[in-house]
Amino acid sequence: MDLRRYLPDISSSGLYWVIAGFSLISVLNVLTLVLGRDEVLAYFNSNPLGPVLAVVVFDTPWTVAGLLGLVVLFTPVLFGTPVSQRRSVSLFFLSSSVIVGVTAGVVWDRYFDNAGVVGAGSSGIAIAGQSVVFCLALFGLFRLQRQDTRSLGRMSSYWWHAFAAIYGTLVLTTLLFVVVLQPIFTPTLQYNWRVHEFAFLIAIGVTVVYEGATWSAQGLDGKLRVDEMLLNYHFDDLNDRFVRPLPKLRVVFAETAEGISSDFHPETGEIWVSPRFCGLEYFRSAKEVDDALLHGMLHADLYYSGRPWQHGLPEAAKEFDSDAEGVGASPEHS
Ligand SMILES: [Zn+2]
Repeated sequence: MDLRRYLPDISSSGLYWVIAGFSLISVLNVLTLVLGRDEVLAYFNSNPLGPVLAVVVFDTPWTVAGLLGLVVLFTPVLFGTPVSQRRSVSLFFLSSSVIVGVTAGVVWDRYFDNAGVVGAGSSGIAIAGQSVVFCLALFGLFRLQRQDTRSLGRMSSYWWHAFAAIYGTLVLTTLLFVVVLQPIFTPTLQYNWRVHEFAFLIAIGVTVVYEGATWSAQGLDGKLRVDEMLLNYHFDDLNDRFVRPLPKLRVVFAETAEGISSDFHPETGEIWVSPRFCGLEYFRSAKEVDDALLHGMLHADLYYSGRPWQHGLPEAAKEFDSDAEGVGASPEHS
């Protein structure tokens, strides 16, 4: 797999923001450790903003590992999200983890802290982040249940099952973590445990509100909308119809020549599908969408078999039309 081909997808997904945000918090953790945890805490203790700033004070290596691990857990959830929503989901994940983590700490300091010292540590942020991932995975399972892509073909079915397994694993491991491994609802004197409890519960509430506000855009209404993710999975489904399967081409939305639904670009290994297909409800327009994709794939097939065909040469269209019949696409000239 050539990772460079996927860099535009990663960049537009907002994942870099999540990596940068969680790395920054981890670096600040390590910095407070280097500067001297007690000195930093003493300073924050006498500062009115102490309870807010103390979320970056180092507590244990596990917290730092957890912050970085969250990026890993979040990534598959992000790429299971409809393309149009990815950047917002990334920014929501980062901002809600931090804001909820800080809020949980501030609430604890204000109402539950009898020690006279501000509670410190980023574990509230980490638990909030884990809670957001947990909820996003639960909503992901719900989306899969409502948007059944198993009938689209072999590879769409494969990805449906893969994401069901990923979401299920994230939900179960989070439950295992908060109930058994790091029981956050069990009173303890070892640390300010209620911060974890608040962070987990507030983050659930915030994520439910977020998903509710973006309900249909997230595909939770059960309508399967055409986006680049669907087209790329479905490329593999349709590729099964070719006698000699095509190499893995990238399908993107890009302006095509007038009257043409899709185009093959051998120089980049891409199929450009007209943006007018973006956002269509798939099951209502399956024939048109499949035709558009197959049109580009058929041009690719002709190209790779040494018969590159330009639009506008009528005699060559005959060959295209007979090939189109073979894979179930509409003829070029009907
Ligand atoms: Zn054509």
